[in-house]
Amino acid sequence: MMNILQPVLAIKNVEKSFGRQQQTLPIIQNITLHVDHNEIVAVLGKSGSGKSTLLRIIAGLESPTSGSVLCNSLPVKGPCPDVSMVFQSFALFPWLTVSGNIAFGLEALGLPESEVKRRTVDMIDLIGLSGYANAWPRELSGGMKQRIGFARALAVEPTLLLLDEPFSALDIYSARKLRQELMHLWQQKTLKTQALVLVTHNVEEAVMLCDRVLLMTGNPGTLTDNFHIGIPREQRNSDNTQPLIEL
Ligand code: ADP
Ligand code: MG
Repeated sequence: MMNILQPVLAIKNVEKSFGRQQQTLPIIQNITLHVDHNEIVAVLGKSGSGKSTLLRIIAGLESPTSGSVLCNSLPVKGPCPDVSMVFQSFALFPWLTVSGNIAFGLEALGLPESEVKRRTVDMIDLIGLSGYANAWPRELSGGMKQRIGFARALAVEPTLLLLDEPFSALDIYSARKLRQELMHLWQQKTLKTQALVLVTHNVEEAVMLCDRVLLMTGNPGTLTDNFHIGIPREQRNSDNTQPLIEL
């Protein structure tokens, strides 16, 4: 059940160290963060500051050394359909077709075959890849690959969507288009997703897309500054930006 009084994401005192015994090295520490319903939060920080590690912990792909992660008040103990992630380098399954990639998480949920098919086709339409259902990832452009990345993540109808620099491997035009489409889906309330966390190096992108910007700084990394973007969302839509050069 959705309870809008509880944050979608509640992280308390998360720390992660890698290595074993005396050799452990803390990568992130003292991470406390709440993300509310309908919020889009950006995390900015230098390369190596631990942003991807934090997202992987939230997604249940990695466990924290200490601290807690709750999604809709339930502990995240491993990969779960409540939290999905889109990766910078797409991370598609090369041995599966476009359909296969999107259906993967739906099959893992144990949905009936007919439902898996229906949702897969719907997602392919939603992200504008009709006609590519049987294509292989290697046959597609970066922009198309990331569309599959988004479709795969959204197919399971996650409560929380984590975006790890999802536009940074794309050319500026594909990136802009995909950003706009994501914001359109979000504003149309087409998605079941209740909150987004976006890791990005792009300050402009953070300001255009997000309600709040957090900084990850230090070594080990921790979340420091927390800026609220005061401008209403409708007024900072990425549609407003003109290309620098028309090709
Ligand atoms: P960012 O996404 O901000 O660039 P990462 O979370 O990828 O940072 O990495 C932060 C630090 O953690 C890096 O120094 C990286 O080498 C280290 N790290 C990440 N994953 C592992 C791992 N599985 N084992 C050991 N060190 C790791
Ligand atoms: Mg990273």
